[in-house]
Amino acid sequence: KERTFIAVKPDGVQRGLVSDIIGRFEKRGYKLVGLKLLVPSKALANEHYADLSSKPFFKGLVDYMTNGKAPVVGMVWEGPSVIKQGRVMLGATDPKAAGPGTIRGDYCLSIGRNICHGSDSAESAEKEIGLWFGGKGEV
Ligand code: ATP
Repeated sequence: KERTFIAVKPDGVQRGLVSDIIGRFEKRGYKLVGLKLLVPSKALANEHYADLSSKPFFKGLVDYMTNGKAPVVGMVWEGPSVIKQGRVMLGATDPKAAGPGTIRGDYCLSIGRNICHGSDSAESAEKEIGLWFGGKGEV
């Protein structure tokens, strides 16, 4: 069964978008198999975004995810093509390019505050579920 890691980032939590985002996945027919509210540690955020460590925005991104002004909602969703379809439902990484009807296309404009995260491949889904939920066995 295919699984993906979807997160509502602190800006999405702060703006009250958690129920909308969960609702979209539920109504689509996906199954919620893991859910937690947490302020991630720096170590977790650094590892989650390890691929971006050389980018100029990396430090700001990790700080934003971990500063505790609002928590993150980490989720594991299960169902057919959920990795690819989850990304479609999120919309383009840069919200300025995200279409209407997607989460980012409906609710944001700034790439630095793009509300949500979704695994981009089977490999990253496995890595991220392990990181955020301590291994597949937990969910
Ligand atoms: P995500 O993993 O969040 O779904 P992504 O995999 O589509 O996004 P990446 O290029 O891996 O995109 O970027 C990860 C995150 O880094 C983005 O969601 C965004 O929050 C942040 N980010 C990317 N580019 C920028 C930028 N130019 N300025 C600020 N933040 C950025």
